[in-house]
Amino acid sequence: MPCRRKTAPMHELSIAESVIDIAVRNCLASGHSVIGKISLSVGSASGVMPAALSFAFEAIKRDTIASGAVLCINTVPISGVCADCRGEFTSYEQYILFSCPKCNSAAITITGGFEMDMIELEVE
Ligand SMILES: [Zn+2]
Repeated sequence: MPCRRKTAPMHELSIAESVIDIAVRNCLASGHSVIGKISLSVGSASGVMPAALSFAFEAIKRDTIASGAVLCINTVPISGVCADCRGEFTSYEQYILFSCPKCNSAAITITGGFEMDMIELEVE
């Protein structure tokens, strides 16, 4: 039986809703009424798919003061350190969450790439 995906996944949809919610509140609090641009920082280990988040954002921004807003997503690499080879590494690939890309050891600590932050908001 074919699997049909009708809309954006719930995960990204609820994130897009909270992004717009936070942006709207900040915009109104600063005395402005139109959101021009929202910039996000999304870690590669955050589990958020940028394409799905953009899709969800475009779908729900209508009927809000962010209806004309542009969403910019800056993808942040995963970073980590290895206890065995003492190496530090960064990658956009999820596989480094499980083993060191240099020595293949599983004794790694992931130090970055989980973030999902609003880094810039342009209002008019
Ligand atoms: Zn290593």
